[in-house]
Amino acid sequence: MAKGLMGLKVANSFAALPEVFYSRVAPAPLSAPRLLHANPDVGRLLGLDEAALASPEFLALCSGQAPLPGGQTIATVYSGHQFGVWAGQLGDGRAHLLGEIEGPEGMRELQLKGSGRTPYARMGDGRAVLRSSVREYLASEAMAGLGIPTTRALALVVSDDPVYRETVETAAVVARVSPTFLRFGHFEHWGHTQARQKALLDYAVDHFLPECRQAADAPDDPVAVGLAFLREVARRTAILIAQWQLVGFCHGVMNTDNMSILGLTLDYGPYGFMDVFNARHVCNHSDTAGRYAWNAQPAVAHWNLYRLAGSLMVLGCDGESLQACIAPFEADFLRAFYQGLACKFGLREWRAGDEVLGDAWWSLLQNQAADFTLAFRRLAEVDEAPERFLDLFEDQDAAQAWLERYRARLAEEAGDPAVRRASMLRANPLYILRNHLAQRAIEAARHGDPSEIERLLALLRDPYTERGGAEDYAAPPPAGEPEVAVSCSS
Ligand code: AMP
Ligand code: MG
Repeated sequence: MAKGLMGLKVANSFAALPEVFYSRVAPAPLSAPRLLHANPDVGRLLGLDEAALASPEFLALCSGQAPLPGGQTIATVYSGHQFGVWAGQLGDGRAHLLGEIEGPEGMRELQLKGSGRTPYARMGDGRAVLRSSVREYLASEAMAGLGIPTTRALALVVSDDPVYRETVETAAVVARVSPTFLRFGHFEHWGHTQARQKALLDYAVDHFLPECRQAADAPDDPVAVGLAFLREVARRTAILIAQWQLVGFCHGVMNTDNMSILGLTLDYGPYGFMDVFNARHVCNHSDTAGRYAWNAQPAVAHWNLYRLAGSLMVLGCDGESLQACIAPFEADFLRAFYQGLACKFGLREWRAGDEVLGDAWWSLLQNQAADFTLAFRRLAEVDEAPERFLDLFEDQDAAQAWLERYRARLAEEAGDPAVRRASMLRANPLYILRNHLAQRAIEAARHGDPSEIERLLALLRDPYTERGGAEDYAAPPPAGEPEVAVSCSS
């Protein structure tokens, strides 16, 4: 039953940890804040109805003016490796955890991002600009619509407060929601402090991953629980990255402090969904070495898991056992990736040897600079509209040659083409959060207009169902439109 803010059941389990894990610090509210958008889907996850989302109390909450009734506002501490280098203590520099709310699907943390400086802010101003906040807001919900694990976005609050980046921009706050915002970096922070690491591990496992204690050989032994935890985080991470790869998503900043222990997509910054396929695509203009290119993401995730593993040695876990927990990462990733590719190709199962067909597909897309999303989508409809598929490729003979191999493979599985087509349309989105679409929503938001956000969310909530009148939203960026450059600046 949905209710107003006062009726929420609120807990503060993170704040019940010793105070070394966080600081009690109030947000610095935005001045004259306005609610640009509230997301009823995520409201429902918290048990908040639309009237509650429209209330002045909700705006006061999401702009940092008022605490969550019954909540204890804190900023948690974490460290991490940025671009492969140990960076020490990093955050939360500009995020406030307001408390945990019990909703119909369980407990959810409510966190504000861009809500002012904390003791971990280093040189930062504690703010987030409108541009990056709109991008986080949209991408969280686009991921959810794709069925990919992610933190969620509840509300977007804007203000005229100036924020100084490369240019003067304006400030915004995203109110975001997740079972937990714990990162690899939280564990890296305590990698030399055994009692703290054990307390954090117990907290994480008991609240979010209870299966790890059950799976541990000795449920009270921190070594056994630590190993079961690492194995589970590795498994979830492998599945997450496989899902990213299959929609052409590049995170852009896969630093260890942006890696969720629940295998959720976390901290949307200079991310990008690819238009034209390029395996070496780098979406973040600050990433000059291409460390976080699309084709590097699986190996980077693996590397990040090693950093998490290293932080667990303090519990008494030995290197060999930790490595054994991470060793299945590659097989987990490939299994999820090929299962997903089988669905996208409309194959009942992925068989030994299908890698050759898969590799030929990626080569075709790469060589012909074909649109990632539309190539898969139009493959689903290739029987009815072969020319629409072939039109995506400059060298249509090469595409035709691949199609013949593909059809030969399909012929090995007796199946109803209509059933296959329907399942492929459920596996291959038509609408994807392309950078130029996000940019249009940002431009409108700068004028206080949330209609493009609303329009995009309506499509991205269910990106698999074609809607009349939305052709423009399924199309690649118009030829000649300058590429949207995104960087770490946020
Ligand atoms: P990111 O690269 O966005 O994941 O940021 C790395 C860390 O820097 C995060 O933990 C943030 O808490 C912190 N940070 C980023 N921008 C700011 C800012 N403007 N003010 C304070 N802290 C920030
Ligand atoms: Mg971050």
